[in-house]
Amino acid sequence: MHKLFEHTSASWVRYSGYEWRTAADGNLYLLPTPGAEPQPYDPMADAETLVCEAMDTGLLCFQRASDTEIRNAIARFACKYGLLGIMTALPTTARFMEYEKVYLPKNQLIRAESMDTADYLDLFFPFRKPDFRKNGVESSWSEEDPAMISLIMTYQEYPQSTVMGFMRDYGERYDWLKAVFKDWSFTFMTSFLYYNDREQLDEDSLLLYQKGIAAFDGNAPTYHIELRETPTLVWDFHSLMLVVKMLFSMLLTDEQHPLRMCRNCQKAFIAKERDDLFCSPECERKGKME
Ligand SMILES: [Zn+2]
Repeated sequence: MHKLFEHTSASWVRYSGYEWRTAADGNLYLLPTPGAEPQPYDPMADAETLVCEAMDTGLLCFQRASDTEIRNAIARFACKYGLLGIMTALPTTARFMEYEKVYLPKNQLIRAESMDTADYLDLFFPFRKPDFRKNGVESSWSEEDPAMISLIMTYQEYPQSTVMGFMRDYGERYDWLKAVFKDWSFTFMTSFLYYNDREQLDEDSLLLYQKGIAAFDGNAPTYHIELRETPTLVWDFHSLMLVVKMLFSMLLTDEQHPLRMCRNCQKAFIAKERDDLFCSPECERKGKME
């Protein structure tokens, strides 16, 4: 376990199964299968695997994988870690449900600067809308499914939008999911290639790489401390997107055990030694034979 993540904790929800469904507007969405069970888990428990698997999913987009392969990889990722919480990650505040409008800083998915909150929600509930009534800034939300009610109780302290993202009818668009995974892996590759090819690159190319990575920014999550068996730092992440982004940034900048791409299988791995080029002894043997 990485030193940075010792005695830290967070919480997110994944379902036992996910499926792709096409909505009336023609967009393909990933959402839980009708009978799937929600299950809270701690994404910090195996943070390194989470980040590596997120990178590998995005790397497929650069490795000539077909859309079917990419869709399967994203669905596998969701079965292990849940959806990304894009709905909560994009707006200026995770507590946007308290306002009539949602404000969106520049992002690669939605071009509008602001939207009515109800229209924004429609983008993530393509089939069945939550029974949600909004009257100005007041809102009420009723649920009958016992599993959903139990989630709402468990996550009382969370922003309403995060909890809505845990609901059975919440889905995320394929083109958006693909864009997010691709963006992460692009940043990862940029950093990898920069150091790999630094000697051979001219000034302009180096500058391009530096600009590419500078565009990768993120808002910091808040945290609090809980007195568990040992004092534990608990992150208040409101989306899995933010979890991955922050963990990825930490792993990428780690000097001793950086996140790297294996020279043989082209997958992400955490280097045991600073100069490790291969993810495993097996890849090292294969890589050196070539
Ligand atoms: Zn490998």
